Amino acid sequence: MIVRMKEKSTKVQYDKIVEFLKEKNLEVKDVSSDQVMIFGIIGDTTGFEPNDLYAFDGVSEVTRVSTPFKKASRSFHPEDTIIKFKNGVEIGGNQFVMMAGPCSVESEIQLSTIAKALKKSGVKILRGGAYKPRTSPYSFQGMGVDGLKLLRKIADENDMLVVTELMSSDVLDEFEKYVDIIQIGARNMQNFSLLKELGKSTKPILLKRGMSATIQEWLMSAEYIMANGNEQVIMCERGIRTYETYTRNTLDISSVLAIKELSHLPVIIDPSHAAGRWNMIENLSLASLAVGAHGLIVEVHHDPEHALSDGAQSLKPEKYDAMVKKLNKFASVMGKKIS
Ligand code: PEP
Ligand code: MN
Repeated sequence: MIVRMKEKSTKVQYDKIVEFLKEKNLEVKDVSSDQVMIFGIIGDTTGFEPNDLYAFDGVSEVTRVSTPFKKASRSFHPEDTIIKFKNGVEIGGNQFVMMAGPCSVESEIQLSTIAKALKKSGVKILRGGAYKPRTSPYSFQGMGVDGLKLLRKIADENDMLVVTELMSSDVLDEFEKYVDIIQIGARNMQNFSLLKELGKSTKPILLKRGMSATIQEWLMSAEYIMANGNEQVIMCERGIRTYETYTRNTLDISSVLAIKELSHLPVIIDPSHAAGRWNMIENLSLASLAVGAHGLIVEVHHDPEHALSDGAQSLKPEKYDAMVKKLNKFASVMGKKIS
C-alpha cells in the first residue's frame, strides 16, 4: 500500500500515521522526495482498510498495490485448485464440466424426465432449485426440503451429483445430507453471515457473482468462505447488470480470465441467467469453452413453455444434446474433455 501526503502536510502528521501503523505491526518504507512525502506500508495488509487512513490529517492518496484477499489469491497459492468428486468429475482441471437441469424442481415426474434425458447427453451433475430467490413474493418459491429429497433421489437413480441453491443457513444440515455442491446465488453473494456459515460446510460451494459485484468483491466473498474454513470454492460468472436490457444480464466473459489470473479457484459460466434467452445459450457456451472456463451450469426443461420459472432461458433436452455434441468437437481440438 502506498500513501502520498498532501503538499502542505507536516512531519507531525506523518509521524502520527507511522505510529498508528506500527501499533498494527506494519512497517513504513519512506520514499519521499523534496517535493512530496510518500511512503509504502510493508507487511500483511489484508485486514487493513486503506480508506481508514483518510481519517488522518495530511493524507492525500492511499493506493492498494496488493490484493485484499489472501486464501483465494494466486500469489499465495500458485497451483490451480482442482475439486474432485467421487464419480470422477474434477472441476478446475482439464475437464469441461457440465451441470444441467431445470431452474426449479417442480415435481418428481418433471425432474425425472429431464434427468433421464440429460443422462443420455452425459450429464453427471444435476442442477435444480428447491429454494428459489424470486423477485416477486407471489412467484413460485420452490419445493423446499421436499425438493432437496427429490433431487437426491433422481440424481442417485441417474448416477449424478446434485448442485442446488442455499438461501439461508437454517437448512444447512439438510443440504449437508442431500446435496453435493451448495450453490450461493447472485442475490446472496454478499450475505456475509451466510458465507461465514459455509466455512463450516464439508461441501464445495458454487459461488455465483453478484449482479453488480466487481471481480474483487466476488473474490472477497470467496475469501469469506475460505477464511472460515472451507477452501473448496467454485466461482460462477452469471452475467452482470449493465445499461443493456436486450439480454437479461451482460455476460462478462473476460471475468473468467481475470479470475484465473488473480486466483487459483475454478471458474465456470452460467449462460442461462446471463442471456435470459434459450437461443443464445449454445453460442455463449462455445465461447465459455473457448475462453477457458472450467465448465457450465445450464438450465434445461422438457416443457419450457410451462416451466414454473425461467422457461424463456431453458433449453429443451434435444437442443441441449445438440449443443453438447458441438462442445465435444471444440473440446477435442482444445485438448479438453467434456464431462
Ligand atoms: C438460479 O441458478 O436459478 C439462480 C437463481 O441464479 P442466480 O443466482 O445467478 O440469479
Ligand atoms: Mn433460474
